Amino acid sequence: MDLTMGLRLSHEILSLETAHPFGIARGTQSLYRVVWVRLTDGDGMEGWGEADPSAFYGETADTIVAALGRLAPVLAECDPYDLEGTEAKVMASLKVNAAARVAISAALHDLVGKRLGVPLWKLWGLDPAKAPVSSFTIGIDAPEVIRAKVREAAEYPVLKIKVGTADDQAILAAVRSETDKPIRVDANCGWTAKRAIAALPMLKEYGVELIEQPLPPDDLEGMALVRRASEIPVIADESCRTAADIPRLAGVVDGINIKLAKCGSLREALRMIAVARAHHLLVMVGCMIESSLGITAAAHFTPLLDIVDLDGAALLKQDPFAGATIAGGRVALPTGPGLGVTRR
Ligand code: MG
Repeated sequence: MDLTMGLRLSHEILSLETAHPFGIARGTQSLYRVVWVRLTDGDGMEGWGEADPSAFYGETADTIVAALGRLAPVLAECDPYDLEGTEAKVMASLKVNAAARVAISAALHDLVGKRLGVPLWKLWGLDPAKAPVSSFTIGIDAPEVIRAKVREAAEYPVLKIKVGTADDQAILAAVRSETDKPIRVDANCGWTAKRAIAALPMLKEYGVELIEQPLPPDDLEGMALVRRASEIPVIADESCRTAADIPRLAGVVDGINIKLAKCGSLREALRMIAVARAHHLLVMVGCMIESSLGITAAAHFTPLLDIVDLDGAALLKQDPFAGATIAGGRVALPTGPGLGVTRR
């Protein structure tokens, strides 16, 4: 009898709290409910994954739990080594709920890595030393709070600044009053093309090296106008969920931001990297506010990328898991088998 066959799904809702209330163009929040997913094979071995719901895509911890309920009978029939087949079955039974699907995907990859006794990056043939430095995010806040956050983030060599407000210049001035390190901005769809283009000289003056998602997701015409006017590379985040979104973004932006909570699968993330490369686009990975369990799943493919923003767990007051870290901005991948994540 094959003891690996058949996977039992269990889950637990965890509450994460950020060290500071985290503000982006769409709102401010400090408490996040995420779902810890465990798949146990017939042999009693466990694979872990994390589902981090995105309100922007209509997901909550409760929609994830409901989605997991629909997947449990599907997984009970699956062979964990059949990663392609199992992910296809998961996709067929759950087209939306990318955050729920990626928790399963991460748990499957964790389980296979553990059974084979190798870390996921090694299974993928990657060199952890090739991972780019991770940025650390400064959320929207009052200038004096921003200055304090920049001082607290002294160990990180690159900062990502959330903008898309009426006070973007004051935000950048506050950052620059504290540091001259490289900065990137993320407007989270908060600008119009006209406003973004008008802001370009100011962004250049403050030494911004990258602009993430200046406009709403569907305004690709506007994004192309901004990109044409900009010397600073423009990256699509909300405009790019899966590999299928990438061909129409070629010529519109300079790069794409992959997030597991958007694309729903580690294998889809690898497909996105391949498709983006075929279109000569920069490739970035981002994250949600998530624990080290979720962050580590994305960290394993960072050696393939140009830009890394995996600070979700570093922004937390307390992290329930230990895995990949970004101390000093350096992405350190675990050496344990699978994801290499442990419970604290
Ligand atoms: Mg973003």
